[in-house]
Amino acid sequence: MKTKNEKQGIYVHIPFCRSRCAYCGFVSSVCEYSESDYVESLAREIRERVCGIADSVYFGGGTPSVLPKGLLKRIMRELRDTAELTGDCEITTEANPDSFSDEFASEARECGVNRISLGVQSLNNEVLAAAGRRHTAEQALQAVKRAKVFGFENVSCDLMLGLPRSSEKDVSESVKSLCEAGIKHLSVYALSVEEGTPLYLSEYRVDEDASANIYEKVYAALKEYGFERYEVSNFAKRGYECRHNKKYWSLAPYVGVGAAAHSYDGKKRSFNTSDIARYIAGLRDEITEAITASDSLEEYVMLGLRTKNGIDSERASELCGYEWEKLKSRELTELVGLGMLERTAKGFKLCENAYYVMNDIIVRLV
Ligand code: SF4
Repeated sequence: MKTKNEKQGIYVHIPFCRSRCAYCGFVSSVCEYSESDYVESLAREIRERVCGIADSVYFGGGTPSVLPKGLLKRIMRELRDTAELTGDCEITTEANPDSFSDEFASEARECGVNRISLGVQSLNNEVLAAAGRRHTAEQALQAVKRAKVFGFENVSCDLMLGLPRSSEKDVSESVKSLCEAGIKHLSVYALSVEEGTPLYLSEYRVDEDASANIYEKVYAALKEYGFERYEVSNFAKRGYECRHNKKYWSLAPYVGVGAAAHSYDGKKRSFNTSDIARYIAGLRDEITEAITASDSLEEYVMLGLRTKNGIDSERASELCGYEWEKLKSRELTELVGLGMLERTAKGFKLCENAYYVMNDIIVRLV
């Protein structure tokens, strides 16, 4: 269900990496396919499926920065030919420190990318090696510098909590060094050890209590550096929240192109095949799933409570088809009284001390 004047987001999946990280559960391949054949299929899909007005484009992976010269430009050209990108369109590319070369940075800049998201994960070389990352801490800091040299003012990094050999001390040092290097956005994710990954097979398991503890320390440190938490895992300096991710959290429409990409048009979700060979052969094997009003509400409440703006009552009503706030007034009043929810101008948000009981709250609100 689109709201008035809503602009869509475009996600482009680049499923190539130089090597596999020990914890990786994403759809990506190392050197098995031709990147230019893949981009040809991508261009076909863009011409067939992308249209309308978009105010965010996100290149994710995989590792978009391993694309050979000219391919990022080619994809951007297709996107501009088929969709109307707004003048202030946020165009992000993910990049890994070892492949974010001068050449890639320059091409990204030339074709209009204005936000770089670097997969740093840690600035401790032992932790990086244990996670199977290809880069060093020095390369990661160089990549942040390079982004600035090439004129990218909006630089985000990802950090991961719970990696083998990591400790509170090295996470704090990583946060400090990245903040001092001038990043504007930091995503902090807790490692989830996916079945079948080398880390899972090595029997490594995350100590969730220790990670939760470290997360609280990271949050406190980021506040000191002037970052605001606008979603549980995402922190930004004022004006640097990620527009694209905010679309996912508010259930705004987006179109995803590429192998394993998902799309959402407000009423249904669709998924492309994750088989890269089939995708290159032009077989997208798209699966479509209708989303019921109650599924939409549940997802919206779950995602909304993770954000600083919380739940917009009008949007919740639009999604579920009834007056949500009226129907849930008893539960809402009770949760506000218990200090778990706070009223906002447009609805309700979670109080800081209620993050750890979020699941119980969700159940009461859907
Ligand atoms: S860089 Fe990302 S997508 Fe590639 S193997 Fe590592 S975790 Fe997976």
